[in-house]
Amino acid sequence: MNSKTLFDVIIIGGSYAGLSAAMTLGRSLRSTLVIDAAQPCNQQTPHSHNFLTQDGKTPVEISSIAKEQVQQYATVEFTEDFAISGQKLENEFQITTQSQQTYRGKKLVFATGIKDQLPDIPGFAKCWGISVIHCPYCHGYEAKSKKTGVMATGERAMHYAPLIKNLTNELAFLTNGGEAFADNQAEKLLQHNIQIIDKEISEVNHHNGHVHSLSFSDGSQEPFEAVYAAVPFIQHSEIPTQLGCELTEQGYLKISPMQETSITGIYACGDNSNPMRSVANAVATGNMTGAVVNKHLADEAF
Ligand SMILES: Cc1cc2nc3c(=O)[nH]c(=O)nc-3n(C[C@H](O)[C@H](O)[C@H](O)COP(=O)(O)OP(=O)(O)OC[C@H]3O[C@@H](n4cnc5c(N)ncnc54)[C@H](O)[C@@H]3O)c2cc1C
Repeated sequence: MNSKTLFDVIIIGGSYAGLSAAMTLGRSLRSTLVIDAAQPCNQQTPHSHNFLTQDGKTPVEISSIAKEQVQQYATVEFTEDFAISGQKLENEFQITTQSQQTYRGKKLVFATGIKDQLPDIPGFAKCWGISVIHCPYCHGYEAKSKKTGVMATGERAMHYAPLIKNLTNELAFLTNGGEAFADNQAEKLLQHNIQIIDKEISEVNHHNGHVHSLSFSDGSQEPFEAVYAAVPFIQHSEIPTQLGCELTEQGYLKISPMQETSITGIYACGDNSNPMRSVANAVATGNMTGAVVNKHLADEAF
């Protein structure tokens, strides 16, 4: 690939959101480069759910089929690399990668996802996406009726409580030594027979990622078959903020309803700009982004 080429569009991130944008742009005859480091956030989960036609497939099966289909479009090129910096030139953008390649694009699409900040509890990372789960829509059905713990407090916990209670009656909330529940919140949980365990978790005990119990710092242990965890995140790529793109209070890239960031010519889709975290949503927002970018390029040339 000629790294001096000016592409119509450079997409950074070639997972569900990036591939979806690339398909729309390829079908619109746009010269498009997808730069992808191939580290999607769901890579450890054995089965991906709740995406029509692909329910229960592995994450890589879904993205491989998608990539194969996008590769049918001759104007789309791929490179496996990590984009490390971006620059705004007069009428275009320049991206430099870890392998010291530079690429220029008239428009930039960030489909870079987010990076979960997993707590430093032994066993937690090994169970992430297997039996420690982030979302009731993705894996709640598989954990239905199981003895379940939820690592969340405050408003977040109160958001999760009715959703997870709908899936299992054996439910406990785990403060992990953090913020305590307000009296009215604790009362509401107890009314619904939801236990509150106000202790620090010292270990997630598991077999090959399948949790069987939690150990607490007071030496006690409690059996669990599934754990939900609301963990903090950071943006996977710092390039958008280096280029001046604004973030929301929650840390997502701020976008318009048309997927435009606060910098003209830069767009974002998927997890990096949307709290509705799912493959379906990444694909939908990528599809929208491809169409909007194509429309802007078409209008500029017309
Ligand atoms: C453990 C887990 C399990 C999940 N299970 C489900 C499920 O069952 N069903 C469901 O619908 N959703 C599930 N999700 C959510 C779903 O995986 C995400 O919503 C989806 O992956 C978001 O797609 P994305 O393209 O925005 O980001 P990602 O899939 O995270 O991909 C981002 C891509 O960008 C690349 N990238 C980032 N920065 C750079 C850079 N600077 N240069 C080059 N490349 C870069 C990364 O390497 C990666 O390939 C799960 C999430 C997690 C964490």
